[in-house]
Amino acid sequence: MEKAIGETRLGVLQGDITQQTTEAIVNAANSRLLGGGEVNGAIHRAGGPRMMAECARIRLRQGGCPPGEAVLTSGGNLKAKYVIHMVGPIWRGGNYGEETVLRNAYLNSLRLALAYKIKTISFPSISTGAYGYPIQEASTIAISVTKEFLQQYAGLAEVWFVLFSPEDFRVYNEALRTCQ
Ligand code: ADP
Repeated sequence: MEKAIGETRLGVLQGDITQQTTEAIVNAANSRLLGGGEVNGAIHRAGGPRMMAECARIRLRQGGCPPGEAVLTSGGNLKAKYVIHMVGPIWRGGNYGEETVLRNAYLNSLRLALAYKIKTISFPSISTGAYGYPIQEASTIAISVTKEFLQQYAGLAEVWFVLFSPEDFRVYNEALRTCQ
C-alpha cells in the first residue's frame, strides 16, 4: 500500500532491494562498511568493486560509520545511482538506546538523500535481520520517523520500504496503514 505525505508517495512493497530502480537504495550496513549479512552481502555483490572501493575509502578516511549514522556511495553496478549505507542498532533487549539509534539512522539517511537532491529512495527493513530488532517495533519506528521527516521537509518524490518476505511485507503494510 501507499500513502501521500505532502508531495511524497510513501509506500510498502514486496521485492528484492538490489533490483529497485529508485535513484538511491539503502543498505543495512555494518560499522566497518564491509559486506556480510543478508541485504548487505547482496548489495555488495550487486554493487561490485567500484562501490566496495568507495566504502574502503570512507573506512580509511573516517574509520567506518557508527550506528545511527549513514554514508553515501555510488551504486556501482546496481540500477540505483546511489547507495546510502545506514548502520542500525544491534538489538540488546531494548534498554540500550536501540530506538533512538534506529530513529537517528533513518533520519540521517533521509537527510543525506535531501542533501544529494535524491528524489526516489528504497529502504530495506534495517536491523530486523541479523541485528535482531523485533520487526513489529522496528516497522512502526521506520514508518513514523519517515512520515514525520516528510511532513517537515519537501523534496523527495517517493520513499519505498522493500520487504523480502511476505510476512515482513504484511507487518510493514500494517504499520503504514495504522500510522497516525
Ligand atoms: P541487519 O543486519 O540490519 O539486521 P540484514 O541484512 O540481516 O540486516 O537483514 C535485514 C532485512 O533485510 C531482513 O529482514 C532480511 O530478510 C531482508 N533482506 C534480505 N535480503 C534482502 C533483499 N535482497 N532485499 C530486501 N530485503 C532483504
